[in-house]
Amino acid sequence: MTDQPTFSIIAPVYNEEPIIHELHRRVSQVMDGIGEPWELIIVDDGSRDRSLEVAMEVHAKDPRVHIVSFARNFGHQLAVTAGLDYAQGDAVIVIDADLQDPPELIPKMIEKWREGYQVVYAVRSERRGESWFKLLTARLFYRIIYRITDVDIPLDTGDFRLMDRSAVGAMNRMREHRRFIRGMASWVGFKQTGVEYVREERYAGETKYPLRKMVRFAMDAITGFSYFPLQVAIYISLILAIIALLAIPVVALLRLAGQYVLQGQATTLVVLLLMSSFQLFFLFLLGAVREPHVR
Ligand code: UDP
Ligand code: MG
Repeated sequence: MTDQPTFSIIAPVYNEEPIIHELHRRVSQVMDGIGEPWELIIVDDGSRDRSLEVAMEVHAKDPRVHIVSFARNFGHQLAVTAGLDYAQGDAVIVIDADLQDPPELIPKMIEKWREGYQVVYAVRSERRGESWFKLLTARLFYRIIYRITDVDIPLDTGDFRLMDRSAVGAMNRMREHRRFIRGMASWVGFKQTGVEYVREERYAGETKYPLRKMVRFAMDAITGFSYFPLQVAIYISLILAIIALLAIPVVALLRLAGQYVLQGQATTLVVLLLMSSFQLFFLFLLGAVREPHVR
C-alpha cells in the first residue's frame, strides 16, 4: 500500500505503447519535485498493442502507478471517467498520455489550487505539430460550442485540468454515458481559473481521434450542452405552421374569385405542411425531455 495520495494524475491510453515509459518518467520527475504523495492512474482503453503490458511493467517498478483496464475501446471520455472514479487524491489532474499536455505545467496548476481555485484548466495558447485539418476543425469546434451552449466552456481548452476533490465528487455523481467532460467540468461550477500553455507535438505515434470519433465527440458536446438543435426544430415547425395557416385563406380567396390555382393540390399541400409542423413540434418536445445541461 502506498500513502493516501494528495495528487492523482489520470492518463487515458489507447494504443500508446511507445509513450508509457516516457509518460511515467516525465510525470515522476515533476511530481517528485512537489514532495507530496501522488499516484498515476493509467486507464487502458482497450488498446490492441502492448500498452497494457508496458503499463504493468511500469506498475511493477513503481507501485504509485495504478492501472484500470477496459475490456474494449470505450473512448477517451469514458476512460477519463473511470480514472475519476478510481482517483484517491485531494486534487485530480487529467492529462493526455501522448505528452501533448506537458506535465511540467502541473506545478502551476497546483499553485492555483493552493490559492483556492477548485478547477484549474489549461488553455492552449499555441498548438504544435498538428495537421491544418485538425487545427481548423478544433478552432471551429470550440467557437461553435462556445456560441451555442449556455454553459461557459472556456475556449481552446481540452481535458487537461486540475480538479479539487469537491468538483470531482460533483462530476462523479453525473452518470450519463455520452459524456463531454470539459462541459461537465464547467457545468458543476466551483471557483475556476485557467493557465496558458503551448500544446506540444505528440511524443510518438499518431492521433487516436479519427474523424469518426471527432464527429461523435462533437455530437455529444452539442446534444448534451445546447438547446440549439432543438430550437431549430421548433423554429422550422413554427414557420411551416405559419405558411400553412396563411395558405388556407389565400387559396380560399382565390377559389372564391374564380381562380382555380393548384386545384386539388392545395389541400394536400396545406395538410402536409401542418403535419410536418406538428411532427417537428412533438420531436422538439421529446428532445426537450432529455434535458441537456443548460441553465
Ligand atoms: N484516447 C483514449 N481512447 C480513445 C482515443 C484516445 O483513451 O478511443 C486517449 C489517447 O491515448 C490520448 C488521449 O486520449 O492519451 C487523447 O487522444 P489523442 O492524443 O489521440 O487526441 P488528439 O490529441 O489528437 O486530439
Ligand atoms: Mg494528442
